[in-house]
Amino acid sequence: MAGEPQSDCLFCKIVSGEIPATIVRESETTVAFRDINPQAPTHVLVIPKVHYPDAATLAAAEPLIAADVLREAGEVAADEKVDGSGYRIILNTGSGAGQTVFHAHAHVLGGRGLQWPPG
Ligand code: AMP
Ligand code: ZN
Repeated sequence: MAGEPQSDCLFCKIVSGEIPATIVRESETTVAFRDINPQAPTHVLVIPKVHYPDAATLAAAEPLIAADVLREAGEVAADEKVDGSGYRIILNTGSGAGQTVFHAHAHVLGGRGLQWPPG
């Protein structure tokens, strides 16, 4: 069924606690944890607890949970005190765009200068 945990999904295993993560925030519908390979002083992933392969399929099926992910991304930025200096929310979609984990997730990056365009 859509949204059900997938036994072969790394982020479903983080949601269930089967794989450890450095969790910085949790809500009824989301978990936020530090990226294992940080690309900036603040690099946190915000994921929905339900399994969808990417942000767009999540938003199509569960728009309120997609909004929760964005709200939590903003709360992470405030917790990490990068909301003043600016931060970036990234939703890689598809392997050609660098997506490697096919459970929807938002990267929250901040704490350093963020080049635009990103290249
Ligand atoms: P993406 O490339 O957009 O699919 O992002 C996946 C992210 O998950 C990468 O930035 C990885 O560094 C990160 N990642 C992979 N495994 C873990 C893990 N066990 N705990 C935390 N972050 C992870
Ligand atoms: Zn999953």
